[in-house]
Amino acid sequence: MRVLANVIDVLGSRDPRRRLRLVQWLIASLVYLGAAALLVTGVGQGWMNTSALNLWLGFVGAVLAIGYVALRSGWTERFRDPSITVWQLSMGVLAVNWGYLICGPMRTSALFPIMVVFAFGAFTLRWRQIAFLTVLAVSSLVAAVVVRTLYPHWVPAQGDVAPIRVDINNILMLIVVLPALAVIAARLSSLRQKLRDQREALARALSEVERLAISDELTGIANRRSMQAMLERSVALSTRQVMPFSIAILDIDHFKAVNDTLGHAAGDEVLKAFARLSGSQLRDTDALGRWGGEEFLLVMPGGTDGVCRVLERIRESVRAGCLDGRSITFSAGVARHRAEETPDALLARADVALYQAKRTGRDRTVVAD
Ligand code: GH3
Ligand code: MG
Ligand code: MG
Repeated sequence: MRVLANVIDVLGSRDPRRRLRLVQWLIASLVYLGAAALLVTGVGQGWMNTSALNLWLGFVGAVLAIGYVALRSGWTERFRDPSITVWQLSMGVLAVNWGYLICGPMRTSALFPIMVVFAFGAFTLRWRQIAFLTVLAVSSLVAAVVVRTLYPHWVPAQGDVAPIRVDINNILMLIVVLPALAVIAARLSSLRQKLRDQREALARALSEVERLAISDELTGIANRRSMQAMLERSVALSTRQVMPFSIAILDIDHFKAVNDTLGHAAGDEVLKAFARLSGSQLRDTDALGRWGGEEFLLVMPGGTDGVCRVLERIRESVRAGCLDGRSITFSAGVARHRAEETPDALLARADVALYQAKRTGRDRTVVAD
């Protein structure tokens, strides 16, 4: 079994997309093989001769070999359609009409495989490509009939009693059927486009929902839910002594007064500016989110000293930057995570420190003991 799997890997490639292309190639080969088997019976019936069949087999063999090498080597991956569908289907059309030329009284049924070509094309091609295949099918069939009629000695078919009227009927039937197939193909192609558009719209909506689920609507930074998750992850890492961390709760001083004197909209602007300015003082490993109202939560790896340094930088940056002509200050409570401490207990200690900062005059940082 292992040997077989290895052989399949070598012949079929491990690359799943290349493999899929080779599976399609294999299906085409099986259709050719079935058609060849039927033509061989035509030789047995005396309707065509062996050398004509051998030439046809040579053409089909060459098409399959070239297709296999081109697909297996990955050479076709430079094209927009690495399956080279149009080439493969065009060769199928030519093989069908070549078969039509040489197989005498069997020729009407020899046209059936062309429907396979178009059914396959309908699922994968754009309507222009289908139109090209239609023109190729009709014109190569006309060419085959012309060759049969003008140069009967070229075509070593024996025992053919059907008159040219059969050929004309066959051409007309193809002219009737293929445009209908082209319409179906166009319909399928627009359905595929619609599906693609819907899938893209869905993906966009999903990523928007994901963004909304983790970010605060007003300030755009992390919301309480995502900070809570962040805190739990940090506690888990710290508990396994992988990475110690500390937190700070920041609360804007006298924020109610901003709302009361300048209005709620101005208050919103202060919150946005506060989030932006604070965020600009952080590193990638630090996380800042809106914890609620005018409170923010900072989570940082390391001890409280690092947090205090960052808080001083934030203090400088928001003091002047948040509101024209008015100084914005905040108070902060800082706590370092202790072994076995739950997120709630850690938050409670930071909250007590924050309360102390408020009580002792605001615009300051207090570290929980
Ligand atoms: P302190 O220094 O003690 O923190 O005083 P404070 O006025 O900041 O404290 P308090 O908690 O009493 O007031 C917070 C205010 O924040 C009350 C609320 O109206 C306001 N607020 C909460 N969320 C928003 C918001 O999204 N936008 C605006 N503009 N105001 C908000
Ligand atoms: Mg508050
Ligand atoms: Mg406040």
